[in-house]
This record gives sequence, structure tokens and C-alpha cells, in this order.
Amino acid sequence: MIAWWVRHDQRLSDNICWDSARELAEATGQELCAVYAWNHLDQAKGLGGIPRLSPRRTEWIREGLSALGHELESHGVALQHTPGSITDWLRANRPHTLLFSRAVATEERQRESEVNALGIPTRAFWTHTLLTPGEVPGGLDRLPSTFTPFRHRVEREVLSFDLDLPQTAPSDHSPTSSSESFPFHAGEASALARLEAYARNPNGAAVYKTRRNGLLGTEFSTKFSPWLASGALSPQRIWQTCLDLEDELGGSPDVEWIRVELLWREYFQWVAYTAGPKLFQKQGFREVPPKNGFNAKAFQRWVDGTTGDEFVDAGMRELAETGFSSNRARQNMASYLIHDLGMDWRHGASYFESQLLDYDPASNWANWAYIAGVGNDPRPVRRFNTAKQASDYDADGAFRARWK
Ligand SMILES: Cc1cc2nc3c(=O)[nH]c(=O)nc-3n(C[C@H](O)[C@H](O)[C@H](O)COP(=O)(O)OP(=O)(O)OC[C@H]3O[C@@H](n4cnc5c(N)ncnc54)[C@H](O)[C@@H]3O)c2cc1C
Repeated sequence: MIAWWVRHDQRLSDNICWDSARELAEATGQELCAVYAWNHLDQAKGLGGIPRLSPRRTEWIREGLSALGHELESHGVALQHTPGSITDWLRANRPHTLLFSRAVATEERQRESEVNALGIPTRAFWTHTLLTPGEVPGGLDRLPSTFTPFRHRVEREVLSFDLDLPQTAPSDHSPTSSSESFPFHAGEASALARLEAYARNPNGAAVYKTRRNGLLGTEFSTKFSPWLASGALSPQRIWQTCLDLEDELGGSPDVEWIRVELLWREYFQWVAYTAGPKLFQKQGFREVPPKNGFNAKAFQRWVDGTTGDEFVDAGMRELAETGFSSNRARQNMASYLIHDLGMDWRHGASYFESQLLDYDPASNWANWAYIAGVGNDPRPVRRFNTAKQASDYDADGAFRARWK
């Protein structure tokens, strides 16, 4: 049997891992199967006993896997779920070869080492990042400590990808307007429909830069992140769609800015890879002495959205009720916990890990470390004045009223 260990690459298009698994199964005449390992994550607790998977995030993952399972069925391939670890599954099933997508963060890499130690032949691929380690300009051992030089280096390389991009995608998966920011479904078909709809909407990609600090509705930003996290959508596909759109529009600073944001994601992936376990420690990977403590009652008020800061509270309620939050709200919620309540940033990062549909170890922990002043920020403190932010970005109070 040839086995595809499904991880954060839950798609069949532009997925070299899936393509290679099929080719190998054909070449060897072996049966092909796919397997997803839950690692008992639904019962696991993180820092301070916070569940690592909220019921909502669990449901998002299940829905995405169910969509993938249906796609695989049409190729005659079964998707198995195992509640435990991939190593237990491998010991029981001993495939001819295991194919999987590489990860950047410590625990996920630890699992790869455990798999490799079993002596089963493996083939590993990079499907979650735009680049492979060898393609990171300047090399990973010289990864800049701040974003801008990384961005400039990558932009000099002029990335483009040769993908089989569909002309149209099914549209019935993608609601066009809603008071909720993320009313979408999991899975590749919904992701592709959203990509197509956002690229084509005159109030979408073409005006992204001017709207990206919005707080309400589906169109103020791309909303690609939950699909990127599960791998239902590849960063290459977004990148190439943006390049094509820029060509079509004769240049567009707005569409170009989506690619800049994707480079933030890319940068944090390689930051996580090079920082290893230090990404998750209180003093961060810059080893800045920690200043903050912890207060259980104040933390619970932050979680419940009852701190008394209406802007922060609205964001926390939206997060708890929907599993999504805009970048602007996330920055304020994180800054408030760290700099106003004086708490250990890792508790906030653990709570976000539990709740966010788009939870990605690199993006989550590196953004928190950044705001805590122990990450990739040349400034020692990145404190947001939440009252000023509310008046700048929620001048009419609509966001606070919606999540009161
Ligand atoms: C405290 C905190 C925690 C965060 N945790 C996560 C997380 O777990 N997963 C996650 O995907 N993003 C995280 N982000 C980054 C960012 O808030 C989300 O990627 C973005 O809000 C998702 O909405 P969107 O897809 O509409 O983004 P858009 O504004 O449309 O951006 C397009 C894409 O660019 C990438 N991107 C944009 N901003 C960032 C950023 N600051 N860091 C990394 N990538 C970025 C994302 O992949 C996003 O989908 C976090 C930010 C903060 C401040």
C-alpha cells in the first residue's frame, strides 16, 4: 500500500504530494490510501489547560476532511481518520511508502522525525509555503531578523508559478455578502470559489489595500487564511492569481499588497522553522527578558469579552462566536492582553490557537511574539492605543454594536 499522510495539504490541485502518491501507486501497482491523524488533539490541553481545539475549529477541520474524502472517493481512494498518532497507524499498517507534506513548527517536525525513525520508506514535499528552504533567498541560515529585507529579497527573485488555474470555479459555495466576516465552508471547492469571487469582485481584490483594515462583512479582506491553514488553498495559487490579475488590470497596488501580505505569512513560516522551540518560549527567540505575569480572573474577562474595553470585547466575542477575527481586531486584542493587562503573551497565543479557524503555528505564535516585543520587530514595544484604534477603524461604532 502507498499511503498519503494528509496534513495541512488538504487539496488535490497543485499538490505535489498527492500527484506523487498517485504516480507511485500507478508505477508500483500498489493500492493508494490517505490517512489523517488526529493525535488525540480534540482532548489535548495547551498552556494553562486551554483546549488545543475548540469544538468550532474541530468542526472546521472535519468539514474540510469530509470534502477531501468525497474528492478522493471519486479517484477510488479512501480517506481514513485515526484518532491517535500517525506512528501508531504506520506500525499497524506498514505501507510500502509514506508520502507527506513537510511542516515548519517544532511539534509537527517532531512527528516527522518519529515517522522517519520507523524505517518505512518516506517521501516528503513542501506544499504549505511559497518557497522550499533551498529557494529562500540568501539561505535560511541568513534569514533576516525583520520582514522588510526578506520581502525585498523575495521580490527581486520575481516568483511565478506554472499552475493549471481553472478559468471559473463553482460559485454556489461562496456567499457574497453577510454581516459575519467568515460565513464560508471548508474544503477546496469553497476555497477556489472564494478565490475566484474575490478576484473578480470590483469591491474585492481590486481595492484590497484600502479596505484591509475593515472589521465587518466578507469583502474587507481576502478571508483566505482558514483555507491556507488547512491547505485547501495553496499560497502559489493565490500568488499566481494575483499576478494574472495585476497583468489584466495593467498593474494594481491593491492586488500587489495581497502578495505582500502573503510574504508576511511566508516570512513567519521560515522564522518558525529557524527559531524551533524558541518560538514558543516566554522570552521569544530574541531572548528578551519577560516582563509580564498572569491573572486568571482578568484573563477570563478577556476571553469572555467583558474587560470593559468595548473595542477589545467586541473582537473577543466575534472570535468566540465565529472562530474568525480581522487582523486589526487581533492586533488590538493581543496588545491589550499583553500591554494593558500585563500578561504573559503565550496564554493569549494558546487561546487563539484553540479558537481560530485559520490557526497556523507559525503565523499565530510569531504574530503574538511580535506584539509582545520578543519577535521580529525592531521596535521594543508594539502597544496599540485601543481607544484611538476604535475611533480610527470603528468610527460609527458598528463593529462594537454588532458584537455587544
Ligand atoms: C495576534 C495575531 C495572531 C494571528 N494568528 C494567525 C493565525 O493563526 N493564522 C493566520 O493565518 N494568520 C494569523 N494572523 C495574521 C492575520 O491576522 C490573518 O492572517 C488575517 O487576518 C486573515 O484574514 P485574511 O485571510 O482575510 O487576510 P488578508 O488581509 O486578506 O491577507 C491575505 C493573506 O496574507 C496572510 N497574512 C496577512 N497578514 C498576516 C500576518 N500578520 N501574518 C501572517 N500572515 C498574514 C494570510 O495568509 C492572509 O490570508 C494573526 C495576527 C495576529 C495579530
